[in-house]
Amino acid sequence: MYAIETDNLIKKYKDNIAVNGINLKIKQGELFALLGTNGAGKTTTIKMLSSLILPSLGTIKINGLDIFSNSQTIKQILNVSPQETAIAPNLTVKENLEFMAGVYQIKYKNEKIEELVNVFNLTEMLGQKAKVLSGGWQRKVSIAISLINDPQILFLDEPTLGLDVIARRELWKIIEKLKGKITIVLTTHYMEEAEKLSDRIGIMSKGNLVAVATADELIRQCDAKNFEDAFVKIATGDEL
Ligand code: ATP
Repeated sequence: MYAIETDNLIKKYKDNIAVNGINLKIKQGELFALLGTNGAGKTTTIKMLSSLILPSLGTIKINGLDIFSNSQTIKQILNVSPQETAIAPNLTVKENLEFMAGVYQIKYKNEKIEELVNVFNLTEMLGQKAKVLSGGWQRKVSIAISLINDPQILFLDEPTLGLDVIARRELWKIIEKLKGKITIVLTTHYMEEAEKLSDRIGIMSKGNLVAVATADELIRQCDAKNFEDAFVKIATGDEL
C-alpha cells in the first residue's frame, strides 16, 4: 500500500491548468521532494494531497483510503507545514504549541509538547512571543507544530525558504531525524536540499510531472555533470 497515490490529478483555475493530470505513487516512510520552477504547480499539488483544496478532477488515496470519502480519518494522519509560517504571532512559543495540541485534542499534551521542545531545542524560546523570533526559529516552531498530532504523512512546503545556511542545516538535521519514521513530501527550490534529503525526486513543469527518480538516476538519465544541470534540462524540457 502506498502512503500517497494519485490518479490523473487535475486542478484548473478558470482557464489556467495549475496541475495537469498527475499520477504519483509515494511509498510509506519515503522522503519525496517535489521540484519545479515558479508556478510549476508544486504548492497546488501539496494543497490537494493534504486536502486543503479540492481537485478539479482525479483521485487521491492516502494509505489506501480515498481522500474524499475518508476526510476525517485522513486529517488525523497528516499535517502540513505551509510556505507561509503557520504560527500565531502574538502567542508565545509555548502557547502556540498548547493551542495546536488543543485543536488536535492531543491526549498526553504535556508529554508531546516536551518531546517536541527537546527535538527542536525550544526550551529557551518557550516564553517568547512568536513574532519576535528570527525567521529560522519561526520555521522551526512551525514545523514542530505540524508534528503535534504525530502525523504519518507530513507536507513541508519550502521549509527552509529564506533561511541562512546555518539555520537551513539545522532544519535539515531535524528533517533527517524524521526520515524513515514518517512519509514526508517536501517542496524546495534548493537543489542541494533535495539531493541531500530525499529518497526520490519528482520534477514538475507547467503542471505536469515530467520526471520521477532518485537524484543519481536523474543525473545519469540526463548525462549531466550534477543534479542542478539535470534539473535545468528536465524543467526546461531540453533534450535528455
Ligand atoms: P512557486 O515555486 O512559485 O511557489 P508552485 O510550483 O508552487 O510555484 P503553484 O503555486 O502551485 O506553483 O501555482 C501553479 C499555477 O497555478 C500558477 O500559474 C499560479 O498562478 C496558479 N494558481 C495557484 N493558486 C491559484 C489560485 N488560488 N487562483 C488562481 N490561480 C492560482
